Amino acid sequence: MGTLWVWDNMTDSEIQQLLKQRLDQLEEQILLSCSRAGRSRSEVQLVAVTKSVSPRVIRLFRELGPYQFGENRPQSLWSKSAELEGLGIEWHMIGHLQRNKVDRTLPICSLIHSVESDRLLKEIDKEAHKQGRQAQCLLEVNISGEQSKQGLAPEEVASLDDLILGLTSTQVLGLMTMAPLTDNPETARPHFENLRLLRDRLQKNTRFGARLAYLSMGMSGDFAVAIECGATHIRVGSHLFSGLEQA
Ligand SMILES: *Cc1c(COP(=O)(O)O)cnc(C)c1O
Repeated sequence: MGTLWVWDNMTDSEIQQLLKQRLDQLEEQILLSCSRAGRSRSEVQLVAVTKSVSPRVIRLFRELGPYQFGENRPQSLWSKSAELEGLGIEWHMIGHLQRNKVDRTLPICSLIHSVESDRLLKEIDKEAHKQGRQAQCLLEVNISGEQSKQGLAPEEVASLDDLILGLTSTQVLGLMTMAPLTDNPETARPHFENLRLLRDRLQKNTRFGARLAYLSMGMSGDFAVAIECGATHIRVGSHLFSGLEQA
């Protein structure tokens, strides 16, 4: 993956061939982690994070089969989804969503991974109600407690019980987190374990907990560990797309 390419000169089929190698290799690693954890491949959904690449690359990647794509900026989500309409892509919002961008994001997005406050959750519900849709989302939890990270504090989540039960047009289906960035995926393990344990406690101690089926955790550097810890959604970008940023 550290290879240098002259992207300007690559044809569509050359790009697609490279994407296929990356995807095959990723699938192999996902399968390996699933089997190590005694889980079935169908329990883990791959959300390909396309934030660094152009619609051209996304289209070529889509032709290989994957259809769940994640973007972390609302404006990019809007423009890419418009350009790639009709290709059967399911878009996921995985980054900071400002409340004034909820209205345009809801119609496009199948799952919002990054609900980081009660105010955002209320806004999503209000807007979903207005639009006559059901929004689906995950609560982003700052499980490592790093200052720089967004997300709810773990001990804050249970207090949303009344709020969540009162939502008319939004389903809270799980939790999402990001582990601290390091070179060693094993440092992520306790954080992923903690997210799963938090989910288990919420299932016992809250009324909304019964619906928390999803754990969105694991990126290019640590998805294998995340799968072993129970991830249902892994969000993988650079493992698939590094070097293709200019194509
Ligand atoms: C960019 C991003 C990812 C993917 O990260 P990679 O290390 O490139 O796989 C996953 N989740 C979020 C929230 C991101 O912003």
